[in-house]
Amino acid sequence: MDTSDVASDLSCVLFTKEQIAARLAEIAAEIDVDYADKNPLLVGVLNGAVMVVADLSRAMKIHCEMDWMAVSSYGSGTQTSGVVRILKDLNTDLHGRHVIIVEDIIDTGLTLSYLMQNLATRDPASLKIMTMLRKPAAVQVELDIAYVGFDIPNQFVVGYGLDYAGHYRNLHDIGVLAPSVYA
Ligand code: 5GP
Repeated sequence: MDTSDVASDLSCVLFTKEQIAARLAEIAAEIDVDYADKNPLLVGVLNGAVMVVADLSRAMKIHCEMDWMAVSSYGSGTQTSGVVRILKDLNTDLHGRHVIIVEDIIDTGLTLSYLMQNLATRDPASLKIMTMLRKPAAVQVELDIAYVGFDIPNQFVVGYGLDYAGHYRNLHDIGVLAPSVYA
């Protein structure tokens, strides 16, 4: 899906597919160096991180493996509570593995903070975070984020895996959802 297909639903485009691909190529090159001979395990957080894992992993030149987790956050409406339920756990034993959690977006950071604590108990050799997008509130949480695609303003964005009511995940670009869509 292109921005032109849903143009009236977006206030603006923040990042085009070309900008996303260029930034992912830079991060992939960093990971290639940082994880040479380490066979990192990319842990994608479903559903939003599907596109990021798919494109980041293919931009990498070193071997890696992939696994997936699905979590649901208990909370009221759009507020994240930080209490997380694991809906789908990993198939991979993390003992001795170099793990990179891959996220679409970090807002409050509460979900990721829980995931980090949970995965840290599984004895990985190392545990780092890569996120495509980061919102300002994320800096309030004690999270060391190794790789950030883009910092964005505190607005609700869709596209490139990010949804509103299940839609827009298949949009190439990342844009701000127009208030008229959810008003
Ligand atoms: P956190 O625990 O960091 O507050 O929650 C992060 C999750 O909230 C993301 O994985 C995503 O599902 C959702 N989220 C936060 N901000 C946005 C946004 O701007 N757009 C969309 N589509 N989801 C968001």
